Amino acid sequence: MDESEENAVPYEETVIRDTDIVFDCPHCGRNLVIDYRGAGLPITCTNCRQSVLVPIPDGMQIDDLDVNPGELLKQLFATRRNLQKAEKRAEELDMKLANIQEYLKGLVELLRD
Ligand SMILES: [Zn+2]
Repeated sequence: MDESEENAVPYEETVIRDTDIVFDCPHCGRNLVIDYRGAGLPITCTNCRQSVLVPIPDGMQIDDLDVNPGELLKQLFATRRNLQKAEKRAEELDMKLANIQEYLKGLVELLRD
């Protein structure tokens, strides 16, 4: 992914369109504005240079936008959302697995004594 394609700009330095996503950088709190097509994509904060995931607005109505094909975009956003969920779930499972491995290690130690 070429990050230069999807650059957020500081809130006060741009004209905000209805279709823009306005959000705060979770690292430095800076107001950022990005085109709706950046929803769900990682971008670099213009202020702190940290990687930020653009939020996907709840109930984002692609149909309201003057775009074609809207259905394709809808599916794209849904796919990104599911990917984020799956990544989070994988993280949780990794942690559980690590816990179980720790537990087993402890059991083995006990049996050895
Ligand atoms: Zn920032």
